Amino acid sequence: MMKTNELEQIDRNKIIQRLGNVTYDLLVIGGGITGAGIALDAASRGLKVALVEQNDFASGTSSRSTKLIHGGLRYLKQFEIALVREVGRERATVHRLAPHLVRSEKMLLPLIKDGTYGKIATSLGLMVYDVLAGVESADQRKMLSKEETLEKEPLLDETTLEGAGIYAEYRTDDARLTIEVVKSAVGFGADCANYVRVDDFIYEDGKIVGATATDRNGNNEMDIKARFVVSAAGPWVDELRKKNDSLEGKRLHLTKGVHIVVPRERLPVHQAVYFDVPDGRMIFAIPRGKITYIGTTDTDYFGDKNHVLTKKEDVHYLLDAANNTFPTVNLTMDDVVSSWAGLRPLIHEDGKSASELSRKDELFESETGLISIAGGKLTGYRKMAERVVNVVAKRYEATDGEKEISDVRTQKIPIGGKAFESPKEVDTYQESVEHQLQEFGIADPYQAWYLVSNYGKQSDQIIALMKEMKGQDHLLLKAECAYGMQFELIQSLSDFFIRRTGRLYFDIESVRDGLTDLADFMQRRFQWTDDFKKNQIQEMKREIQEVSEFS
Ligand code: FAD
Repeated sequence: MMKTNELEQIDRNKIIQRLGNVTYDLLVIGGGITGAGIALDAASRGLKVALVEQNDFASGTSSRSTKLIHGGLRYLKQFEIALVREVGRERATVHRLAPHLVRSEKMLLPLIKDGTYGKIATSLGLMVYDVLAGVESADQRKMLSKEETLEKEPLLDETTLEGAGIYAEYRTDDARLTIEVVKSAVGFGADCANYVRVDDFIYEDGKIVGATATDRNGNNEMDIKARFVVSAAGPWVDELRKKNDSLEGKRLHLTKGVHIVVPRERLPVHQAVYFDVPDGRMIFAIPRGKITYIGTTDTDYFGDKNHVLTKKEDVHYLLDAANNTFPTVNLTMDDVVSSWAGLRPLIHEDGKSASELSRKDELFESETGLISIAGGKLTGYRKMAERVVNVVAKRYEATDGEKEISDVRTQKIPIGGKAFESPKEVDTYQESVEHQLQEFGIADPYQAWYLVSNYGKQSDQIIALMKEMKGQDHLLLKAECAYGMQFELIQSLSDFFIRRTGRLYFDIESVRDGLTDLADFMQRRFQWTDDFKKNQIQEMKREIQEVSEFS
């Protein structure tokens, strides 16, 4: 096996052993972006941290967002100035920390007759947005005439179009961002494990001192001891508050958001577009590699949190919206090749509808010491983490903690391997990856873009693995998978095809094509039994069906 000079291989068995033996300063429950961010913040400030995730990292909301690092223009309309300012400024920070994974994306906001925004309001709104978010002058908003807009986006309806605003946003892959933050936390000594579920809390003298948990892969139970426990369980936060007998006052309000995926050639928008839906909402159409995705819906949700599905009515809603804005494309159900559906863990406010609820994060502290965080956005994860760890640090110091806890450091910790100096360096590196892939007969530039967007300079390690495995079928897939098994705690086919690579959403054909070969490959590496492998393939086929066939 290849050695790396960047990251130690992650040995899950050793982590599991330690979880049952070490007393941690902080136990974080939940391996979405919020939990990952807290683990990194705390570990990099000197705390001994454990993080456990009941399924795979980012398997909850953090692989099902619109995948934008954005200030949330629409929150301006709700006068959530502080939120827009904080997440707006965070965009630039997260982009600087991971310019390969958080890429700049211009957003077109068409102005249509009787639409949500008029020309003056849009111009002013975008200007305020730029100021709040501290956008550099070269990147600040521009207003376009009808003709200029049609030049940029000929698919728009010229009969209703009046012009457009164009402004700066960033696009990412939420699940990749999460795993990279987890890996950074591991680099700072945190013990992070997927497939470990917290079942209950352990108390001493009326205070939480850890949790009982189950390793769902080994079916072992363990006690994880920790001075402080933070729940970053997203849509499950209230379940843990209930176990802690502290579910009182504010509660979660879950709303479902669906995105659908169509081949790029069926909706060949030139840049991301944020457009009006006849019911008064707004949605995105975002081009990405071979596909364009459209979303999102926003409806109250009361079903199974572990199994959130895209329904036929969700697909119709999004198709109708897209066809209304781009009248010549005539998208139908048959064009939808993939989809994803996620839950927003929002804070309930009496009398407010799904889309009116605030996206602000909120901290709850129980009498027994459970700290829960809910709400918020992917974009603001670093700041949310800082706030939570500040609370933990204060408590730690108040209870004679022997270590000195430093100030926040995450604004200086690059995400996703060795740092890039600038977006320009990302482009140069991508060109070199493109040349290297050609040596393996991979000529499609998409693959170099895909590899660098997902792995940054860690692509070097994947290419080195390709060299070792040269001559095998599905070489890139296998090298990626081998890398993920060593460094990213891949445990199953779905970890690989959904969360580590996004292939189920952005390149579903590559999943259908490589599924059996990859299952054989993983069987050999993990010594799976034939039955286990068969189940894994079945499970993955069910995932393919659920994202592409709708009832
Ligand atoms: P999650 O990702 O759900 O993580 C919580 C984790 O806790 C889960 O993985 C769960 O399995 C685990 N867990 C629960 N109970 C236990 C237990 N007992 N033991 C162990 N683990 C447990 N934000 C943006 O900034 N930009 C966007 O473009 C954007 N678009 C969005 C679009 C949609 C449709 C949705 C739904 C959200 C969007 N958001 C966006 C918001 C953003 O995705 C969320 O704020 C963020 O992902 C929430 O992360 P989290 O870690 O808090 O929750």
